[in-house]
Formats: sequence, structure tokens, C-alpha cells
Amino acid sequence: MRNKFYILLLIIGFGVSNGFSQTWSIAVHGGAGNMKPENFTTEQLNEYEQEMNKALSIGVEILKSGGTSLDAVEQVVRYLEDCPLFNAGKGAVFTHEGRNELDAAIMDGRTLSAGAVAGVSNVKNPISLARKVMENSPHVMLTGKGASEFALENGVELVDSSYFYTPQRWNDLQRVLSKEKMGTVGCVALDVHGNLAAATSTGGMTNKRWGRIGDAPIIGAGTYANNSTCAVSATGHGEFFIRYTVAHDISALMEYQNLSLNAAVEKVIMGKLLNAGGRGGVIALDHLGNVCMMMNTTGMFRAFARSDGSTGFAIF
Ligand code: ASP
Repeated sequence: MRNKFYILLLIIGFGVSNGFSQTWSIAVHGGAGNMKPENFTTEQLNEYEQEMNKALSIGVEILKSGGTSLDAVEQVVRYLEDCPLFNAGKGAVFTHEGRNELDAAIMDGRTLSAGAVAGVSNVKNPISLARKVMENSPHVMLTGKGASEFALENGVELVDSSYFYTPQRWNDLQRVLSKEKMGTVGCVALDVHGNLAAATSTGGMTNKRWGRIGDAPIIGAGTYANNSTCAVSATGHGEFFIRYTVAHDISALMEYQNLSLNAAVEKVIMGKLLNAGGRGGVIALDHLGNVCMMMNTTGMFRAFARSDGSTGFAIF
């Protein structure tokens, strides 16, 4: 019953644009996967809902008070990185070797500048380091040890790698439930200045090996923002999102074929990606603040809010 209510709210939110000059819009995800309601207790579902809504409200406050979409996506993702429920920051999954290696990216749709970090193991909030890479370095992506050195130079908080230990994720590794235990986080936002931004942060996939990097920090694969088209944050089986450059493909369909946001997302997520066997979803916004949250899995933690008052939360 509750799910039906949320789906209704989501439908109301989809595809509605408005002409307010004070238009803002925000969407957030907490990972996609083939999850089913029976795998969760009511308490767990409530907890996810509470945390997602808390994260969303941080972004809403920033946007409402005229703040930038970049600040909104960074702060929302930071909050979710600190929450052990999600596979990012504190709740990151374990690699095959029993380590935590985190990936994150942020992109400014106004300037197309972007920053990303990959395979970092001692940075408390990888999304903030990604932002520093964007703003304080001439590069787009830094990895591993070099990224940590850059963090130190830029006053980004470092932690001992034991900070990322959570019993839940450790047990996931032991059981190798990787496909069922996603939980990457992401946020897309449009601010009242008309600028789009996207951010994604993840621990990657449980049991990953050999320094594997996923789609989240790869601009155009798991993260993309461009004021003239859309902002996208993805979650799912990263290898497919990289090979099909999912986030940029959605933008390109809007740019070159004039597709609406919804049509472009549907073509990529329910068409190309699904046909290739790639599982996952995206949250996306266009420059009018239209929201699209679509996945080809049974679930994706997702929520949105807009300046016209529409808002919603859903999992399945
Ligand atoms: N896309 C992430 C990765 O492949 C995982 C996820 O979204 O669950 O690293």
C-alpha cells in the first residue's frame, strides 16, 4: 500500500516542468539491485527511507536558499558516505583481498569541469576529494596513493583504513553476495541559477580484484552533467555502464536526437543496457528540472524533490 503511494508521488513528479524562475530540482539514489521487499524488515525499510529523506533535505535546503547544485550534490553524497547503510564511504564493500577501495566523481554542468578519485582507501569522504580534484588540480581523475597525497595537501580528512570496516559488509564478502548488496550513492541537482551538477560515490562491487575501478568515477559512464542536456548519476554493474558510456549516451541522445530526458533514459536503460545484460539504473534531471529515475532491476533506493512541491521516495 505504502509503495503504491510512493509510486503515485513519483508519477506526479515525472515529466512535469514549470516556468518558475526559482526552479530547482534534486534527485538522489542509494543503489540499485535485484532486491525484493521480503529481503527487508519493516525497520530496515524505514531506516533506508529516513536516511534517504535526510540526505535529500540537506540538498533541498541548499537549493532553496539559492545555493549551487554543486554544493547540493556534494553535501548530499557526503551525508550518505557517512551512513553505513550505503556502499560508499563508511559502508563501502570489501575487495577480494579484504580492503576498501572507494571511487567517486563530481561534474559541473555549467563548465563541464569534472573531478574524480578511484581506488582510494583512506579518504573519509571521496566525493569532497573529487571536488578538490576538479577545483584545485589541472586533472580529472586521481587514483590510489597519489590521490591520498593530493588529499593531504588539500586538507581533505584522511582516516585509517580500519574506519571503513563494518561487520555487515565483511559478512557480505564472506558470503560473496555482491550482486544483491549494491548501495552506491548519487545525487543530481538543478539550482535556481539554471546549473546542473552530478555526483556519485561507491565502494564498487564486493569481491572486486586487481585494482578494479567501476563506472562511478568515469565521466560519461556513471557520472555526467551538462547544462545543455542533463545530469546523470548511475548505479549498477559498472563494467556495462563503462562499455556503453551510459551517462553520456543519455546526454548525447538529447543533444543529437532531441529526445526528452525520459525517452533518452528509457532507450539506454531499458533498451541498450538491458539487451546487453547490464543491470542497474540512473537518476537524471534535465535543465527544466524534470526528474527521471529508472532502473532495469527490481529495486533502486531513490528520492526526489522539486521547487513545485512534488516529492517522492521509492525502493521497488
Ligand atoms: N556501479 C558501481 C560499480 O560498478 C556499483 C553499484 O552501483 O552498485 O562500481
